[in-house]
Amino acid sequence: MNSLVTQRITDKALKLGLGHTAETAGEAAARAETDSMGYLDFLDHLLAEELAVRESRRFRTALELSALPHHKTLDEFDYSFQPGLEPRRVRDLSTLEFVSRASNVALLGPPGVGKTHIAVALAVAACQAGYSIYFTTLDDLVRKLKAADAVGRLPKQLSSLMRPSLLAIDEVGYLPLDREEANMFFQLISRRYEKGATIVTSNKSFTEWGSVLGDDVLATAILDRLLHHCDVLTINGPSYRLKDRQALVTKPDAPAS
Ligand code: ADP
Ligand code: MG
Repeated sequence: MNSLVTQRITDKALKLGLGHTAETAGEAAARAETDSMGYLDFLDHLLAEELAVRESRRFRTALELSALPHHKTLDEFDYSFQPGLEPRRVRDLSTLEFVSRASNVALLGPPGVGKTHIAVALAVAACQAGYSIYFTTLDDLVRKLKAADAVGRLPKQLSSLMRPSLLAIDEVGYLPLDREEANMFFQLISRRYEKGATIVTSNKSFTEWGSVLGDDVLATAILDRLLHHCDVLTINGPSYRLKDRQALVTKPDAPAS
């Protein structure tokens, strides 16, 4: 291609914020010529590439900002290890309809059964689908809210937690909250009610939330909003973390290797 024209295209593409096109227009045109591509196909190809590059950048940045502990997917989840969990229920969630409906998901069960794994996988899928996500443990969340409150910025902090289409709150119940902390948690759940989707994971049954949150009335108020539109998945199987050790325990006669 004429180098002057290429330069003009590069300049204009940059002004329009089409970074990938600016970099590759010359090459793409040469390829189009070799492949005898039609004008419409060429334009389509150019725009599709720009969009794909932009989309993958958005996905990567959003994942980085999401504070996810890892990026595991549902493909890495071995359903045969948890026969009590219906794969269909998890797959239904992976359609992300609950995110578009601003409803909730609760993953309950003892340690190691895959609650965080599923919560992360749903968040990664939502991020890939273009939803904004944020992941936190309840402990970190409460610490953040308290720090904001100490400098008079609690309302701002609560507003910023309204932004993600999907908020995942991991580990409800691992550490008890005092009344003030539980009240902040309530304010958040109450604000997000019917406005944004929330996933919670907990090692405690809902009946135990009163003692975890240090206040039965607050726990009831939180659960009332959380559970109004909520898929509850209880996983009551073995711990995946202990699976190799369990195999040893259940096979005491296995020859030493
Ligand atoms: P929980 O949050 O319920 O305590 P995690 O989701 O953190 O458990 O799971 C513990 C570890 O085991 C993680 O590395 C997770 O990826 C893995 N894991 C748990 N369940 C499964 C499963 N069914 N298939 C594959 N990996 C699993
Ligand atoms: Mg966990």
